[in-house]
Parts: sequence; structure tokens; C-alpha cells
Amino acid sequence: MIYEGKSLNVTLLPNGIAELVFDAQGSVNKFDRQTVSELDEATQALKSQSDVKGVLVRSNKSTFIVGADITEFTGLFDMPTEEVLTWVAKTSQVFDRFEDLPFPTISAINGFALGGGCEMTLACDLRVADTTAAIGLPEVKLGLMPGFGGTVRLPRLIGADNALEWMTTGRDRKAAKALAEGAVDAVVAPEKLRDAALSMLQDAIDGKFGWEARRAQKKAPLKLNKNESMMSFSTAKAMVFAQAGKHYPAPHAMVDTVANAARLDRAGALELENQGFTKLAKSDAAKAQVGIFLADQLVKSKGKKQAKASTKDVKQTAVLGAGIMGGGIAYQSAVKGTPVIMKDINQDALDLGLNEAAKILGKGMQRGKVTPAVMASTLNNIVPTLEYSAIKDVDLVIEAVVENPKVKGIVLKETEQNVSDDTVICSNTSTISINQLAQSLDKPERFCGMHFFNPVHKMPLVEIIRGEKTTDATIATVVAATLKMGKTPIVVNDCPGFLVNRVLFPYFAGFSKLVMDGADFVAVDKVMEKIFGWPMGPAYLLDVVGMDTADHASSVMADGIPERMQKIDNDPVTLLYKSERLGQKNGKGFYNFSVDKRGRPAKKAADEAYELFAPHCADKRDFDADEIIARVMIPMANEAIRCLEEGIVGSAAEADMALLYGLGFPPFRGGVFRYIETMGLANFVALADKYADLGPIYQISEGVREMAASGKSYFS
Ligand code: NAD
Repeated sequence: MIYEGKSLNVTLLPNGIAELVFDAQGSVNKFDRQTVSELDEATQALKSQSDVKGVLVRSNKSTFIVGADITEFTGLFDMPTEEVLTWVAKTSQVFDRFEDLPFPTISAINGFALGGGCEMTLACDLRVADTTAAIGLPEVKLGLMPGFGGTVRLPRLIGADNALEWMTTGRDRKAAKALAEGAVDAVVAPEKLRDAALSMLQDAIDGKFGWEARRAQKKAPLKLNKNESMMSFSTAKAMVFAQAGKHYPAPHAMVDTVANAARLDRAGALELENQGFTKLAKSDAAKAQVGIFLADQLVKSKGKKQAKASTKDVKQTAVLGAGIMGGGIAYQSAVKGTPVIMKDINQDALDLGLNEAAKILGKGMQRGKVTPAVMASTLNNIVPTLEYSAIKDVDLVIEAVVENPKVKGIVLKETEQNVSDDTVICSNTSTISINQLAQSLDKPERFCGMHFFNPVHKMPLVEIIRGEKTTDATIATVVAATLKMGKTPIVVNDCPGFLVNRVLFPYFAGFSKLVMDGADFVAVDKVMEKIFGWPMGPAYLLDVVGMDTADHASSVMADGIPERMQKIDNDPVTLLYKSERLGQKNGKGFYNFSVDKRGRPAKKAADEAYELFAPHCADKRDFDADEIIARVMIPMANEAIRCLEEGIVGSAAEADMALLYGLGFPPFRGGVFRYIETMGLANFVALADKYADLGPIYQISEGVREMAASGKSYFS
């Protein structure tokens, strides 16, 4: 044994080949600080051995190395800039020292070699992958660029164009594709991986592969003349701008770094990489995106843990109501393999629900994502019915009839009379209190909310609402069923609007007030989309939600939380609703919707809307972007804070993920809590105080004031 650590060890084989094996104790292989220092120690040990002729790097796990340890990032990136730079430069030098070993090196790649794992293979002279391998540099997804030599070695190995495609999209390559692009030298069957690598390494030792020249190429400037380089980098810049936009600095920084380093050797190029990496590591976007990664892990592991407690496997589901939501839920259950009975009171609705599912599958087939077999099995899995008798044996019922507490109450009562005693019953209500609905049931303990988002097949979130009487077993079953449907469950406690709609409606109220004070709704949408980064501004979103739904939901919210959410007389939503401008569903709302010459949907601000609003609004005036953002976002942030303080949601991380997955909160901002922390809690408090006179939705809680005063964070 040449070296033995906790994450890796090195042994010398009789033929003079040393085998460096990544084999982390109790976890997947990853580059945490400990592993990096062990790699350095192993490299020094290898260098000092006179009888080593070559090194094979491989993994003893089912996957090579998954990347850096992202849980360490928050602490690392919180260090002062100079210290982050020193850390990344020092780590990078570990990879350089490995690359500079005085004999050939090869990596044998199985499963994932991502981020630091990919960078480890790039530091080797040769790479052989097995057919399970997937190799890539996904750092961009965390708002970062590859470090540890990734931006230097990959372009020198596979060309700048290909390397930039890898790095700016973050997509990994399967073994065959990596081979075709020159990122690996051979692909073999998994059982042959070690032998193939040993044999290639022996060939290299025997002088067959010209490993010194290959190594020299990775350490030299890029082989591009001026014209090629201009073409390459300006195309990459244009592509990145079109795809990533201005809110995501990482892909732009990568192109600049590779371009500026093109004429430099390894040392010079790495200096630029280290600087670029550090700058991104200190950016708000990276903080937000790393935060999202960690919050996502938290939500996923919480979900898995809750589901594990489930004693009931949902093998058959029923959906009541075959409308927009019922149809979508039925499709989602069916496509993920759980048969579903779809019940409505109306045959036309059933036909429409089935057609909707067929339409989604048809689109999937066109894009080559759905096979005819999946289409057939999914449609077979949905059984339409008008009869309650059909649902008597189901494990889970999801009620998705009209948003009317009386109708829902009757439907839930009828459901309970038609299912077995241990059937779990859920409501997909978007606003009505689960405790209120539970009153219709004899056994409220088996009842909870299961709030899907529209369109169901695209939106990842399901908000699961625990009522006062809901048991843990019920929650466990519903969480497990949600995971089985391929969705992300977040469990919250009951209140009007639950978490997501409870924070959305104050945002809408802030928007209404802004328009009534003279703002142009188009200008507000523009700021909230282009500058803040929402997929849709509030006016457009209201058109999509529908004015009938929004008006109704705001009444429910006003009843439930009268101290803050009283309806505003003659606000734009009410005015549009009263004049039957329902939004996208009838082609007219804030905007008029039409189809352009090429058949694409188009929208134009409606003169009729301006005319409707004018008598109830102040004279039109310009608001600057900061004021627009503050006036709509403070109410949302305030309500999110109250939800956390009242225990409606378990943590700031879960709230952020719920808004990201349920509303499309801009990922580069990381969620509403990350947004106010990026601003600084003290700044948030000062900003909210500035607008406090506008009404209770702007007035902050004592809790946040104390948090700000004591310098605390919602994430610690
Ligand atoms: P929808 O009007 O499209 O569909 C409701 C369906 O329920 C209709 O097909 C109707 O025929 C059927 N129905 C009415 N009474 C019934 C009964 N007694 N038994 C069986 N079926 C009955 O409504 P939707 O938009 O699908 O909303 C359904 C529920 O989902 C509501 O509670 C709504 O708040 C909630 N929700 C809606 C959205 C959304 O964006 N549309 C999002 C999340 C949650």
C-alpha cells in the first residue's frame, strides 16, 4: 500500500502500475476538502516512489466521482474574496501536481464523473469509460464555472466550441457521445473496464500513445488562429446570451475566461479560471443557486423520510372532477403507472379530460419523448366514469371539482359513503381551509389537502396540507403517492390559501394598488419579467389564472385573513371580472389574446382595460423599477415571513422551493427568503417601513425586525 486515506487509497501492482482507488467511507465519491488533501498526499507518495511506472485512477463504487461536496460551498464562499481565491488556486494546484507526475496516468470511468470528477479525469493523460459512464461539467447549474482546471483542460482536449457547449449548458455526455467528441479514448463493457484501462496504461508505458505529447497539449495555449478564435467565441457569446439571458452571469463568464485564456499556457489560463471562479462564487446568483440545490436536497430527503413511514401503497387512484386540474392529475397518475378512475357528473367533461391527456401524450410523441406503448398504457390507465360505485376500491381519492365550499362539502361526504374505511381522501382546493372542508367528513383524520399546480404535467410542486385532524399516516401515504407521481411534495399546515396562494394574493394586491395609484400594468409586467425575472408579470399571470378564479380566491383570502387581505373596492381584478374580461380563458383581460400570422399566440394590452380602470385610478405616471419591485414584492415577502413564523411552512428553504416549483420564482434569486437575505434583512426592514403607510400588507412583523436587529439569518 503506497497510501491509505479515508476517501482513497493507492496500491502498487507487481508490474509497477499504481492503482489509485476512490472509495469514500460511507458515502459516494466526492471532492470534499478532505478528499482533495488526500489526493495531494497520494500524489506526493506516488512521486516519491521510484518503482512506479504509471497510475490507474478508478472508483470502487458504482459511480466514479459525483463532483465537489456542495454542502461545503456555503461556508467556503462566505469567506473573504482573497481566501476563496487562495482556496480554489490551492485546490487547482493539487490537480496540476497530479497531472505532472513523471509517468503516464489513466482514469477508468464508471457511472458519473461530474464536476470535480470530470476534472480528475481531465488531469489524467488517458481516459477509458464503461458504457454506464456519464461525464460532464454541471457547475453552471449552481451559478459557477468549472474550477480545478476544467475550463483549461477540456477546451484543449475537445476544442473550444465543444467544451463551451458542455460547460455553458451543464449537460453531461453519455460514454458513446464523449468518445465521439474526443473526451474519452475508449468505451468498454463495465466488466472489462479495469483490464482495458490497465492494458491501455501498459501500452502508454511502452511508448504507444505518446502520452507526453497529449499532456503537453493540455498545458499549452489553445490551437486556434485569430479568425477561428473570433468566430468561435463570438458565436458562443451570442448563443449564451440568447439562452441564459442577463440574469445568469456564469455562462458569460465561462466564455470570456476560455477566450481570454486561449493564448495562455496552463499556468496563465488557470490564473484566469481561478479569478473567474472566485468572482462567480461571491455572486448573488451562485449563492441563490447553491441555496436552491441544498434546499432541494432538504425537500427531497424530507419527502423520502415521510414517505417511508407510509404503510399504504397507492395502487389505484380516483380523481373527482375531470376539468383542467382533474384531467391533469389523472394524466399524471396514469403516466407514472398508477391506474386512475376519473369521475365527473358530466360526460362532456370526461371526454374533454381524456382528450387533454391524449393531447399531452400526442405532443410527447411528436417530440420523440413518448412511445406508442406509453401512450396506449397511459390512456388505458384512465377509466372515465359517471358513477360513484366505480371508486369503491380505490386507495386514494383526489377531489378536484369546482372551487365552491358547499359543492366540495357535498362531494366529500358522498365520497366517504362510497369508499372503504381506509381510503385516503384529498382535496385539490387552492384556497378553502382544509379544516373547514374536513367538517363534512366522519373521519377527518384520513383527509388532507393535495394542491397541484396548473399545468399539472409541467409544474413540479404538490403542496400537501395537513388539517388539525389529519394523521401522520395520512400525510405519509399522500407524500408517497406524490413522489410516485413524479412530483415534489412540500407539507404545510392549514390556513386560507395555504402557503403558495397565501403569499401570491398579497402580491396581487400590491399590484392592484400600484395600478390604482397610476402605474401602467404593461410597465409593471415588463419590470417584473425583464428585471425581476418572473416568467410572467402580475397582469399577465392574472390573465392566465383567470379573473373569476382570482376574484373568488381573493374573497376566500379576505374572509380568512381580514386583518390584511380585505378586498379592494373597484380594483382592476374586480373591474375586469365584472365586465366579463376573464383573461386568457375568454381571450380578454388586461390583455387581448389572439393568434398571430404564423399561428402563434399573441397578446396586446387592451384599450378596454385601460378605459375600465381610468375612473378608479389616479392619473397615469411613471414609477421607477425599484419602486415597482418593492411595492409588489414586499407584500409577498411579508406574508411568507408570517407563514414561517406561524409554522404554516417548516423552513425558509421549503418556502423558497415551494415558490420556485409552484410559481416559477426566478431561480437566480433563489426564492423569496433568499431574495430578502440577498438584499439584507436590515435593508428589507427599512424598505418595508418606507411603504408601511400603504397598508397592512406592507407592515412587517416584529419577528423580522428582531431578526434584522440581531443579524440573524433565515437559513441558519
Ligand atoms: P374546472 O371547472 O375546470 O373543473 C371542475 C370539474 O368538476 C368540471 O368538469 C365539473 O363538471 C366537475 N364537477 C362539478 N361538480 C362535480 C361533482 N359533484 N362530481 C364530480 N365532478 C364534478 O375546475 P379546475 O380549474 O379544474 O379546478 C378544480 C379544483 O382545482 C378547484 O378546487 C380549484 O380551485 C383547484 N385548482 C385549480 C387550479 C387552476 O389553475 N385551474 C390550480 C390549482 C387548484
